[in-house]
Amino acid sequence: MPELPATDPAGAQAADGAAPRDTAMSGSAAWAALGAAGHLARVYRGGDVRRGIDVDGLADVLATADARWAIPATLSASVQLATALPVLATGTGPAVERVLARALSGRATLALAATDTTAGTDLTALRTEAAVDTTGVVVTGGKKWITNATTAESFLVLARHRPGRHFANFTWVLVPADAPGVAIRPAPSTLYAGSGAGHVSFDAVSLNREHLVGRVGFGLPVFARHIAVERLAGALWGVALCRRVLTDTRRRLTGREHQEGTLWNLGHVRQRFAAALVRVRELHALTERSAPRVAEHYDLQAAATLKAAAGTTVPYVLGECAHLWGATGFADGGMQEIRAQAALFGIGGGTTEVVLETVAEGAERVLDDLGREVLQL
Ligand SMILES: Cc1cc2nc3c(=O)[nH]c(=O)nc-3n(C[C@H](O)[C@H](O)[C@H](O)COP(=O)(O)OP(=O)(O)OC[C@H]3O[C@@H](n4cnc5c(N)ncnc54)[C@H](O)[C@@H]3O)c2cc1C
Repeated sequence: MPELPATDPAGAQAADGAAPRDTAMSGSAAWAALGAAGHLARVYRGGDVRRGIDVDGLADVLATADARWAIPATLSASVQLATALPVLATGTGPAVERVLARALSGRATLALAATDTTAGTDLTALRTEAAVDTTGVVVTGGKKWITNATTAESFLVLARHRPGRHFANFTWVLVPADAPGVAIRPAPSTLYAGSGAGHVSFDAVSLNREHLVGRVGFGLPVFARHIAVERLAGALWGVALCRRVLTDTRRRLTGREHQEGTLWNLGHVRQRFAAALVRVRELHALTERSAPRVAEHYDLQAAATLKAAAGTTVPYVLGECAHLWGATGFADGGMQEIRAQAALFGIGGGTTEVVLETVAEGAERVLDDLGREVLQL
């Protein structure tokens, strides 16, 4: 049997006989396509971003993006759907409403700029300042490794309006990408160029108060609630991604001749594959169980547990699959490249170490949850 195509081993064709994959599609073009098809609104209850996430809608859109496009394009959509748009929707006023309407229809992309020039794992150390007075706000500082930075019409910027680490010192500001003082450059990353990843600096960017999103001082609590949903989105997407890659890997193994049969006939190969399947099953079960708590109650513990699970399961599964592709995995656009991109599951939106700290803080509740009534004997 001939070898499957060397490029895009994770599927030159979309799963389940759907349209072919377009792995060259940019994040902004993918976003526009989802908007034009009317799929963005289905991610929210009743189609209204202010009513919260519809878990099935979010799962469907992420699985669709994953089936059709490469990881960077799906990342671009995921950040906007799960975090950027819901955070923007906590604001009011003409500037907010205009950007929200354009983004929700796919006509514009919106970047969520939280990670600063300081360590992303130390968020309250961020340096970007928002000097707020009765007439407006002046933003000064810089943000790094921001998805959609090179394509965004606006940046939703987490800035400090007061010095110090106190949780009430931070505020969201909507900064148009073409405002005087904004400078954008692409991140030095071929792996994530398709997501529009980039760095942005703000040199005394002066805006009126319409650009303050939500109440001054509420930036961090709002971020905590919505990053919980991003963690749920990561788990939902992680299941879809692992399923797709395992499907394509199994197709390869069952088609690759080896001795009298195929690679799939080798016990060790099958067991290695099965171990990866078990991990995806675990992630899927945990996601199903935790999704309502995160989507309806913004449960930070449940979200951190999901993120820790996805952050270890996805890189493990993709690492196993990449190995099973042998040399072909190293082809351009091949499984080794996909594996490298998927390492982001353990870093973006909170590294595995940081979310494990949150899990540890809630250890008692987790142990209580696992308990059963001990019967009298
Ligand atoms: C492709 C891509 C897209 C991104 N998109 C966005 C975006 O749209 N918006 C946004 O705001 N940010 C975005 N980010 C940034 C991302 O959220 C950060 O990379 C992440 O929060 C980690 O921060 P850092 O890279 O500064 O790592 P650092 O803070 O420098 O940490 C480096 C490493 O140190 C270790 N470490 C750190 N803290 C601890 C700890 N407490 N305990 C144990 N070990 C620890 C971990 O191993 C960690 O990986 C993106 C990043 C990438 C690569």
